[in-house]
Amino acid sequence: MSNTISIAIDGPSGAGKSTLARSISRKLGYLYVDTGAIYRTIGYYVFSKHLDPRDPEAVVSALPEISVSMRYEEDGLQHMLLNGEDVTAKIRLPEISMYASAVSAHPAVRVHLLEMQRALAREHHVVMDGRDIGTVVLPDAQVKIFLTATPEVRAHRRMVELEQRGTPEPYEKVLEDIRQRDWNDTHRAAAPLRQAEDAVLLDTTKLDFQQSEEALLCIIRKKIKER
Ligand code: C5P
Repeated sequence: MSNTISIAIDGPSGAGKSTLARSISRKLGYLYVDTGAIYRTIGYYVFSKHLDPRDPEAVVSALPEISVSMRYEEDGLQHMLLNGEDVTAKIRLPEISMYASAVSAHPAVRVHLLEMQRALAREHHVVMDGRDIGTVVLPDAQVKIFLTATPEVRAHRRMVELEQRGTPEPYEKVLEDIRQRDWNDTHRAAAPLRQAEDAVLLDTTKLDFQQSEEALLCIIRKKIKER
């Protein structure tokens, strides 16, 4: 039995999971684990090898060639290493989102990454965000939050984020991608995106960053006190 505390934050793309999770992990002094970045790293490898991310055989046969590791640097960023190369910036390219979504639907990919995520939660207090953290990866997490917002609000936030990164995309395209990824993530057979029964729902549609963060911290404090 591990004595660490795990806070699982799941939800669809663009709900603000990573920005909020990173910020609260700093406030709580916990390790922030962005599991989407891990799937993006696999997606990036498949993209770089010109493989079809929907083809299970092509993706599964590439897995033994892929070594994924993480390094936390002074900047507080979770750096992703793919076979030793730092791909932290490359995995954020807009086209990698769809690759990550497609490769993450293959059960073998999910199994391949499961132990790595669980080990982090055994060794550290974590705030871990993703799609299946409360349901599959850390079903015993002390706090589970399902973070969501309307697709339109999420597309708007994502558009601003892409602009800030210097890779702007039109709103309509971002919205279409969000809807497509929502569909992929909720309809796949392996660990689909869904709210865990014991997760608290937080809808940030009408909340700004600070209000969302306050609401999140309030849920966490209450849950940890209840235990
Ligand atoms: O969170 P982010 O948008 O970076 O994740 C990229 C993709 O990785 C998601 O669209 C989803 O398909 C997949 N993913 C997943 N399970 C997780 C985290 C991400 O399937 N725990």
